[in-house]
Amino acid sequence: MRILIANDDGYLAPGLDALVQACSGLGEIDVVAPEQNASGTSNSLTLSRPLSVFTAFNGYRYINGTPSDCVHVALTGMLPRRPDLVLSGINNGANMGDDTLYSGTVAAAMEGFLFGIPAIAFSLVDKGWAHLDAAARVARALVEQVLREPPASVPWLLNVNIPNRPDVDGAGVEVTRLGRRHASEPVIRQTSPRGDDIYWIGPAGDAREAGAGTDFHATALGYVSVTPLQVDLTDHAGLGAWRRALSGAKEGAR
Ligand code: MN
Repeated sequence: MRILIANDDGYLAPGLDALVQACSGLGEIDVVAPEQNASGTSNSLTLSRPLSVFTAFNGYRYINGTPSDCVHVALTGMLPRRPDLVLSGINNGANMGDDTLYSGTVAAAMEGFLFGIPAIAFSLVDKGWAHLDAAARVARALVEQVLREPPASVPWLLNVNIPNRPDVDGAGVEVTRLGRRHASEPVIRQTSPRGDDIYWIGPAGDAREAGAGTDFHATALGYVSVTPLQVDLTDHAGLGAWRRALSGAKEGAR
């Protein structure tokens, strides 16, 4: 068993180390993580410059790029052998609902999934690393379970959000769907020391669809939320209506 572990908070993040320690003994582990915090970078790849790989004092490798860069480089030439599992996290803060589209943590796992490798993204719901040790035990138990009883269809991609509770490893797991968030809060406009207008992207919106069955709902009740993800963004239910709506336009253009 070979496991590739990445994150988006950077190679020095406590959550990365906790996940690596949690997986100790499960197989051969390679760590390839961003040099700097790359939260919110989604699936971006660095195409405008080359990437450098460094090795830290503890053997972790880090790259001056994005989470997707790290997994992409690892899988497409850097690692001598293909991993059996790609893990990402443990992230400093939740990745639920629409967050998953922006998340570098989810993106790192998704990069493994896109290369046909089962992958799991782990996030702690509240920032600040409270009860990271308990979250690491949850991660370990989940990885052991999917290794013991792997799902029938491969690859698969799981998004796991873990409440910050000292006893969360006894809390139980709920398989959920993504909730929805309201649109983000407005940007925060400030004046730079040189007199220019500068803008901070505002915080994520509150949960909008957080009913039973969602990730927001499960974690609010203290459960570990596990959402199976897919990558196909097609609006399958809308295909027929769009074909009908646009067939006229096509005729008209002739
Ligand atoms: Mn992050």
